[in-house]
Amino acid sequence: YGVPGTAKERTFIAVKPDGVQRGLVAEIIARFERRGYKLVGLKLLVPSVGLAKEHYADLSSKPFFKSLVEYMTNGKAPVVGMVWEGPSVIKQGRVMLGATDPKAAGPGTIRGDLCLSIGRNICHGSDSAESAMKEISLWFGGRGEIVDWTSNNEEWV
Ligand code: ADP
Ligand code: MG
Repeated sequence: YGVPGTAKERTFIAVKPDGVQRGLVAEIIARFERRGYKLVGLKLLVPSVGLAKEHYADLSSKPFFKSLVEYMTNGKAPVVGMVWEGPSVIKQGRVMLGATDPKAAGPGTIRGDLCLSIGRNICHGSDSAESAMKEISLWFGGRGEIVDWTSNNEEWV
């Protein structure tokens, strides 16, 4: 399970605090569900500063890093962390989110349809197989937190 390039590829998708605050959790989940992807992990949490720093470790030298971590962890709203499974879900998840800067994100994408500001772009998706594996193990890990189940989509979608 979770092996990139297989039908059971998995990615980490999150609704960030601004997406939760704006009531967009269901909208974002619905897009992945309707596409035919399978939800195998779901949690609501205010991430610790350590978790947010590790999640965004690649960006630690960027000027916006401190404010990004603060925005993810300040508890004004939680984060919804999810693991989605299905064919090409890592790449397609990124396509569904749209460009990092919502002003460059195409219509039909989550960011292109629902937000305007790069610092408030409502969602996260793993950008590669390596990131997906790192992020899934960072955000999930407790016993039973990821559930293998059979979706009829595998026959019909
Ligand atoms: P993505 O979320 O599309 O993978 P990055 O990994 O490059 O994008 O950046 C992570 C997050 O950092 C972005 O989603 C956004 O919330 C924030 N960010 C990126 N660039 C900027 C910027 N120039 N100013 C403010 N925040 C930024
Ligand atoms: Mg990224």
